[in-house]
Amino acid sequence: MSDHLTASARAETADVRRFWEGLGLPGLVDVHTHFMPERVLRKVWAYFDALGPLTGGVEWPITYRQEESERAELLREFGVRAFTAMLYPHKPGMARWLNGWAVDFARRTPGCLHTSTLFPEPGAESLVRDAVEAGARVFKAHVQVGAYDPADALLDGAWGVLAEAGVPVVIHCGSGPAPGTYTGPEPIARVLARHPRLRLIVAHLGMSEYEDFLDLAERCTEVRLDTTMAFTDFAERMAPFPRRALPRLADLGDRILLGTDFPNIPYPYLHQLHALERLGLGPAWLRAVCHDNAAGLFGLRENESGSERGNESGSGAVG
Ligand SMILES: [Zn+2]
Repeated sequence: MSDHLTASARAETADVRRFWEGLGLPGLVDVHTHFMPERVLRKVWAYFDALGPLTGGVEWPITYRQEESERAELLREFGVRAFTAMLYPHKPGMARWLNGWAVDFARRTPGCLHTSTLFPEPGAESLVRDAVEAGARVFKAHVQVGAYDPADALLDGAWGVLAEAGVPVVIHCGSGPAPGTYTGPEPIARVLARHPRLRLIVAHLGMSEYEDFLDLAERCTEVRLDTTMAFTDFAERMAPFPRRALPRLADLGDRILLGTDFPNIPYPYLHQLHALERLGLGPAWLRAVCHDNAAGLFGLRENESGSERGNESGSGAVG
């Protein structure tokens, strides 16, 4: 274990590892972690510190403010085999720059699944095609921060490229913790009507419209949901998950993926794992959600990390 870690990080690391070892897993796969250019991340943190609209006016003390390399190292110490670098533009002309940064970040960061983003602007389709050709394995779209209609005609070609390539898109399209003009299940359902094979991963389990997004996943077999912040004490205070929908979570167990929002979370990483465990859906469900579903989706083999590409998703064998 690295000697850079503080005593409390060391203790948390041991607890996180005990969690997945106890399930008999080779580690975790976390599809929703944020890494972005330093000055963008600082702005995001300042926004949370100032209780911006996205926090719904709630106190949001960010737990992991270490330097970038230490944050990535901490994930690896937790045993997160593969994680993403969720980044997103809030205006036109920004996506290409972010994607350029993300290529470099994925290259220099073991465990990172090369992540890209998009925005409704002229050239969106070719930008997405370039990113896929550069090896992007997952995209992030943020309907609330970007304040755009995901069914905007400017994105139609981009969704088509992603559907065809089978590259998943983590999309923040629910109305929690704060609604936007185009959040909620309806705009994204229009996208899926046009692109039924699009592999959307609905962030935050669709918070706060949990049941509407479960409906969507039940209707569209390529729709998945990530657990980011869902079921934590923090989220349950703001947007409680309806207990009556628990059996539906069990039934969709092969399409629910661990996500956490690390590092921008107001509680320790371990709490997200305990929040899933206390749902009482059992070890087989936890194994699928915390590792196997995403490992399958991204074609990770037993002994590789997110930076390497397995056979299922394309290029040749690595290591
Ligand atoms: Zn997030």
